[in-house]
Amino acid sequence: MKLAIASGKGGTGKSMVAANLAFTLSQTEPVTLVDCDVEEPNLHLFFPAAATTTEVTVPVPVVDDFSCKYCGKCEDFCQFGALTVLESRVLFFPELCHSCGGCTLVCPKGAIHEEPKRIGTVSISTPLPQLKLISGMLDTGIPHAVPIIRTAKKLAVGYPLVICDTAPGTSCPVVETLDGCDACILVTESTPFGLHDLRLAVDVAARLGVPIGIVINRSDGKDQATLAFCTDHDLEVMMTIPFEREIAAIQSRGDLLCRVRPEWQKAFAALFIKCSALSGGD
Ligand code: SF4
Ligand code: SF4
Repeated sequence: MKLAIASGKGGTGKSMVAANLAFTLSQTEPVTLVDCDVEEPNLHLFFPAAATTTEVTVPVPVVDDFSCKYCGKCEDFCQFGALTVLESRVLFFPELCHSCGGCTLVCPKGAIHEEPKRIGTVSISTPLPQLKLISGMLDTGIPHAVPIIRTAKKLAVGYPLVICDTAPGTSCPVVETLDGCDACILVTESTPFGLHDLRLAVDVAARLGVPIGIVINRSDGKDQATLAFCTDHDLEVMMTIPFEREIAAIQSRGDLLCRVRPEWQKAFAALFIKCSALSGGD
């Protein structure tokens, strides 16, 4: 089973839910936790351990000025505006390039070849006997998170239970993470912003055909608007975590609710059973 933990809005406690769920389940079965929030990965803070790190690269075009005839075909082909052909020079804007390889193919003079460019890293560690952590990390200033997420997800292929922590929001990195998942937990908070962004996240997951369950975090008991939205959209609220000072303190120490207060493991185990049912499993 592949489960995504997402949220329309940042700061809702998505990573906290992912970490506690993975910790709880790893007490009884092997779990692979994938940090797909590659612009700001933080699961390694909950699970510090020595890691093996490898570079992630993407191919980028390099123009050979001697072979180039400045015909402009590469510029015409590039949908992202990454190439501009001048009279005697081709300008390349790497931050716009999506590494599609098309310009290399359309160049009639064979004047473009590709070279690898580092965009970030992927680290693998085993912080608990039955927990594997895969963390993607985008280099500073690099705009393309998707290839890192793809690499991290590939490393988790073949493992029976995979939990992917997505980036916040509803942009390309979230779509890439949700793609192929059997179910998705959307973590929200009962504020007007939380509800607004929950609507967007539900729309994205529904369009991708991923079954959705809801977790309300930091509930102060005034969840009526969120509950009404869930009822209207036939979404199950699978867990509610109260707004408590002690929970916030555990979190801010980088500790886990389920480790400090083991009674919460029962609630997270129940959450997983509901997710399994959502995905059509047992
Ligand atoms: S398509 Fe090839 S020959 Fe034409 S401008 Fe681009 S690099 Fe130069
Ligand atoms: S590889 Fe694709 S995106 Fe990059 S410059 Fe060439 S055509 Fe444009």
